[in-house]
Amino acid sequence: MARKLENLRNIGIIAHIDAGKTTVTERMLFYAGATHKMGEVDKGTTETDFDEEEQQRGITIYSACVTFQWKDIVVNLIDTPGHVDFTAEVERCLRVLDGGVIVFSAREGVEAQSETVWRQADRYHVPRIALVNKMDREGADFQATFKEIGARLEGKPVAIQIPVGAGPPHQADAFAGIIDLVTMKMLTFAAEDQGTQIHESDVPDRLRDEALAWRGRMLEALYDYSDELMELALGEEAIPAELIRRVIRSATIHSYIQPVLCGSALDYVGIQPLLDAVAYYLPSPADMPSVEGTNPKKKDATERRKPSAKEPFCGLVFKVVADRHGDFCYVRVYSGELAAGTRVLNSTKDKKENVPQLWHLQADSREQVKSVTTGDIVGVVGLRHSVTGDTLCSPKDPIVLEQIVFPETVVSMAIEPESSAERKKLAETLEIMKRQDPTFRAIENEETGQTLISGMGELHLEVIKHRLLRDFNLDVKVHQPRVSYRETVERAVEVEGHCNRQIAGRLLSAQVRIRIEPVTKAALPVVISVAPGVELPGELLGTALEALREQGEGGGALGFPLMRVKITLLAAEVSEGDQSEVALRIAAADAVHKALGEDAAGIVLLEPIMKLEIITPEEHVGDFVGDLQQRRAIIHQTQTRGKHTVIEAEAPLASLFGYSSAMRSLSQGRATSSMEPSSYGPAPPAILKSFL
Ligand code: GDP
Repeated sequence: MARKLENLRNIGIIAHIDAGKTTVTERMLFYAGATHKMGEVDKGTTETDFDEEEQQRGITIYSACVTFQWKDIVVNLIDTPGHVDFTAEVERCLRVLDGGVIVFSAREGVEAQSETVWRQADRYHVPRIALVNKMDREGADFQATFKEIGARLEGKPVAIQIPVGAGPPHQADAFAGIIDLVTMKMLTFAAEDQGTQIHESDVPDRLRDEALAWRGRMLEALYDYSDELMELALGEEAIPAELIRRVIRSATIHSYIQPVLCGSALDYVGIQPLLDAVAYYLPSPADMPSVEGTNPKKKDATERRKPSAKEPFCGLVFKVVADRHGDFCYVRVYSGELAAGTRVLNSTKDKKENVPQLWHLQADSREQVKSVTTGDIVGVVGLRHSVTGDTLCSPKDPIVLEQIVFPETVVSMAIEPESSAERKKLAETLEIMKRQDPTFRAIENEETGQTLISGMGELHLEVIKHRLLRDFNLDVKVHQPRVSYRETVERAVEVEGHCNRQIAGRLLSAQVRIRIEPVTKAALPVVISVAPGVELPGELLGTALEALREQGEGGGALGFPLMRVKITLLAAEVSEGDQSEVALRIAAADAVHKALGEDAAGIVLLEPIMKLEIITPEEHVGDFVGDLQQRRAIIHQTQTRGKHTVIEAEAPLASLFGYSSAMRSLSQGRATSSMEPSSYGPAPPAILKSFL
């Protein structure tokens, strides 16, 4: 496949679980001729969800990159997960996308996860177009969803299509096709030929006024971006479709607007126009600004690389998948060219790497290539040191791109090998899994023989457990998942730590005075600072601060990691000599230990709080509210949306284990819910007591 920069689209489809992302992807691949048979999610035969576990669960967990051609455009479609337990996966994909297609369900509208993902896309400045899918469902409401994108997501939606009717076939005024507001044509699609033939006709008279009103709103929204278009529109002159598209493209690329389309992926309606919209409106790598990073050789001076093959090579490893043939690293090339058989610098780790093989990827087939160029996404096999988030670059022109930040883990689970022979295998396996998934942690406790694995939610650990037992065939005992607590302090205290020890006939003496205090800032780790005027010879000030940090990061009085704590070094003294570093460290440890003692700064146990959204038929609202109250939840609001009620609440993770099955039984399977970590809050005294 020829890959011209302007004709390349690196996009992701992003959606709330069940909105239809997998179905949309499948249909795209089919119309693009990349697959010969249409996959059906419900039958578990889709192209991108190639992991068996995903098929069983029907959700997309591990993102894959699929390449296909649509007309003269080459699309690298990066699959993003829909479940919030995997938010970090979404974040890391957003980093390497140039544009996104956000899929909403016309029935559910903007759901909690769509909101999360939308805001993440804002943060990474990802231009996007929106598809209001499932127009064939009962209760589908294009206008309501469109409005929500503006009101709830604070977006600037501009409808460039409207649906003809809404709802299932047996209903009066069922969903029958779409009106393209740019060309003012009605498009219909026949299920018999799986929508491959698009029938274009004039807008029926009964819909003309409505369509003209929507078109008027679309044009008005574009006035700000083109005087030419505004003058033609105000003069009621014909406006060439080409001009409208050009203006929409430029406004979309700058994230001033988000074009909104509609369709029904299941019924084959609207996918080819969606592909056209990807080509027309989403940016190519050439439209993107230069990437920025730091030069590790020049005191972290800022470096920029334009999206051009003439620039030195740089790229980002955004995903690692363990494969039969070794690790498979997905790399987004931001500038320059990368050839197989050359050497690059992993500038994050300051290690040279050989690049033995490069692969272009389909969902389940691969093509080996000799070189790749700017804008491309490529699978590299044979890297030894690189993990997700690392920058690769030309050794002569080093640059470190911004790191991917992953959120804290909130839940953990103890696992134990059944035999000592399994122990080594377990350790190796966990190492591989950590490389693949940076939001997953594993720590071995040598005393108990247990390993504690931690992740982003119950489902995340559930998936990891299945991989260990099934994919890696490990014989391990798995305990119940537990909440990952944190600690902070209640009040500020000032204490002094000492070191007065006789070692090898010499007295080591040091005093360190510190203040430890709570800080209110949300998810900060331990902050270390130094009061003005503190002086220590040579490198010793650095040593003292490092010792304080290590002590702080070692955990609080109960052994949980500290957060929202500030430690300030107020004064320090140390006797001169070659052992003064040791003495300082001992005194610093003593100070932190004293400060964190129960009677000093006080212990506050923090527990993770989850944001929860439940969508339920009205008759079950009372049951849900009652149940939530028992789970220490705070209900923020309940809202009706069509025939459903949306309950937004926050509740401690500790009271939400097994919530999805509880929720199903409360509503006879008719409600849906989603949750994601939102913050940490003080745990009730009873829980704190259980640890004292
Ligand atoms: P994902 O979780 O976002 O990947 O969503 P899927 O593509 O797996 O779709 C979830 C469910 O919705 C499946 O049962 C699909 O068959 C169904 N679905 C997807 N698109 C549509 C649509 O346009 N109309 C209707 N009625 N159902 C759809």
